[in-house]
Amino acid sequence: LIVGVLSELSSREHRVALDPSAVDHLVKAGFAVLFEAGCGADASFPDSAYEASGATAASHSDVIAKCNILAVLDFPAPLVADALTSGQVLVGLLDALNNRDAVAKLASRGVTAVALELLPRTLSRAQAMDALSSQSSAAGYRAGIVAASSFGRYLPMMVTASGTAIPAKVIVIGTGVAGLQAIATTKRLGAIVTGYDVRPASHTEVESLGARFLTSSVAAGAGEGGYARAMTTEEQAAQQNELSEALIAFDVIITTAKVPGRMPALLVSEQALATLQPGSVCVDLGASDKGGNVFGSVDGETHTTAGGVIVVGGGNLAADLPASASQMYGRNITSVIDALAPDGVITIDATDEVHSAIVVSHDGLIVSERVRDAMK
Ligand code: NAD
Repeated sequence: LIVGVLSELSSREHRVALDPSAVDHLVKAGFAVLFEAGCGADASFPDSAYEASGATAASHSDVIAKCNILAVLDFPAPLVADALTSGQVLVGLLDALNNRDAVAKLASRGVTAVALELLPRTLSRAQAMDALSSQSSAAGYRAGIVAASSFGRYLPMMVTASGTAIPAKVIVIGTGVAGLQAIATTKRLGAIVTGYDVRPASHTEVESLGARFLTSSVAAGAGEGGYARAMTTEEQAAQQNELSEALIAFDVIITTAKVPGRMPALLVSEQALATLQPGSVCVDLGASDKGGNVFGSVDGETHTTAGGVIVVGGGNLAADLPASASQMYGRNITSVIDALAPDGVITIDATDEVHSAIVVSHDGLIVSERVRDAMK
């Protein structure tokens, strides 16, 4: 079987779906790999490293036409998706519950679409395939670094002959995989860190990193798959109020609160932003084209409010750690390919917990129950 990897087309995407070590793994397992020349350049993986791992360079169109399995990061541009034909497999973070029309088109052409975001993450055998976690982890680390570099003061306490700096106070709102990494990173940089989440289970995780936990009076508990459930309008208003009062005490705010498939909750309101000191920093990992967790944040852009607060729209910060994020993603992809084609032959087993969760379309049909339900 031939596995293909392309240059990602978006100018904001610096990652690549397979790094040379993932290629090495696939080649040793008996696959051939075709790569688009330059696909790893932004992540500092030269073509020579792909060739040394046993991959062969090909043009963009040849990779698409000749591969049996195409590995991607996000749902590919129409130019790529429309060129896939019957029997080919597309694997990546396809956001299938939202890209329903595009997925239906793939299904009608007989393409097997495999959506990594639908993986049952709590299954231990699925953990090596968990691309949401690997990329959230990279984004959370990066958020801590971006916050530190945007803040015009020290994060740690500094006692020097020229004076003393007090440590910065950081709050991380949403303490899932990304939030816990942001906590660990800003703690390592010497800040005084607090975590906040509506899932009570996150309390002990935050404290185990040596951070404080700000208890929410709006405990939304865990919804489907361990995620926070969507909150009612009243709960959202109560949460904004309680946060607005608490946030005045912080220099740096990192928000990571997402509820899959829905608008991100607005957690740092316009009023809360106005109470922050000039030079304070908000890094919003929840920023997307649907809005963000911070009032006025624009994904991919940084702006300063009239009150001097720096707001970073960081919806895709994993892409700014391209080498590490790609290495981890490559490992996720090879684990999925190992699971779908254990003997070098693609074998979709509808009774397998992992296959039935992530395989969205196969043999011309939408086979994922979750995606079928979303299409109703
Ligand atoms: P996510 O990216 O979907 O959300 C980030 C965090 O924001 C979550 O902790 C969520 O509770 C929180 N959040 C959502 N709305 C909020 C609000 N209004 N106010 C404050 N916080 C809010 O989450 P994730 O990092 O993908 O993790 C989701 C869940 O999956 C967690 O329970 C995590 O522990 C679990 N998980 C389990 C495994 C595993 O078992 N191997 C792996 C990864 C994740």
